[in-house]
Amino acid sequence: MELQFLGTGAGMPSKQRNTSALVVKLMQERGTFWLFDCGEATQHQMLHTSLKPRKLEKIFITHMHGDHIYGLPGLLGSRSFLDGKEPLTIYGPTGIQEWILTTLRLSRTYLQYKVNFVEISEGIVFEDEQFTVEAKLLHHVIPCFGFRVSQKPLPPQLLIEQALKLGVPKGPLLAKLKSGQDVLLENGHTVYSQDVTAKAKEGFSLAILGDTRFCEASIELSRDVDIVIHEATFDAGTEELAKPYGHSTITQAAQVAKESGAKHLIVQHISARFLPSQAEELRKQGLAVFPSIIVAEDFAEFELKKNELVQIYK
Ligand SMILES: [Zn+2]
Ligand SMILES: [Zn+2]
Repeated sequence: MELQFLGTGAGMPSKQRNTSALVVKLMQERGTFWLFDCGEATQHQMLHTSLKPRKLEKIFITHMHGDHIYGLPGLLGSRSFLDGKEPLTIYGPTGIQEWILTTLRLSRTYLQYKVNFVEISEGIVFEDEQFTVEAKLLHHVIPCFGFRVSQKPLPPQLLIEQALKLGVPKGPLLAKLKSGQDVLLENGHTVYSQDVTAKAKEGFSLAILGDTRFCEASIELSRDVDIVIHEATFDAGTEELAKPYGHSTITQAAQVAKESGAKHLIVQHISARFLPSQAEELRKQGLAVFPSIIVAEDFAEFELKKNELVQIYK
């Protein structure tokens, strides 16, 4: 899994920061990527990356403000032009389906793939054998969701050399051992699954939060995650200013990471009021509360390596 930010600005685009869009790359896990929010010109941002729209499998929308959805119709249309044939699922608040279908209809845009809509409420919004995605309502000026993406534990690995050494013949017995069953060999010896398998590895977990004031739901969604991605529209000390707009300061974002026990924090939704040179100052304000914090920039890409958050592209 890698994370790539395509838009880290707030409200309006600036030269340095486009409106919200975050990619969760799952090429190794499932050969696809997922998109969280789709601000205007997200598809233009994608042109500067190696991302192929036809590999886009799911889109999660936090809320219906334009800086989080205005890129959708164009991206959906281009995905079709670029030979996207696999179905795509869009998860979002009530109204997302009506808005997209109306726009596609009035602009006579015909897609050569199926779009499934899931208008979500709180709880598990997606689950399969690999992942669970849970949504919770945050505290913005319109309904806005945060998502927790949890990868399920990876299946135990068979230590094949070890098994062969213990006399297990190649074939179906190996599969049995891998699935956790002990096997009885023809020579009367029992081989125990636990002796020839490596323990199941924990999966990763992310909390991807939409626009919000400081709230309990953010902390609950982010409980013990590897990475929390939180907005920081305002700087330290402007909490009273941030509140009526339904936004947070960098200090409050760091507070969520601290109180939830998250390992790393990446902040985004950075106001155009801040010059690029002020990003470091913002980070320092956050560092006063939480030790692992990054102020995301457009196109920055990250991966987790043994619990360390590593920036692989800047
Ligand atoms: Zn926003
Ligand atoms: Zn908003």
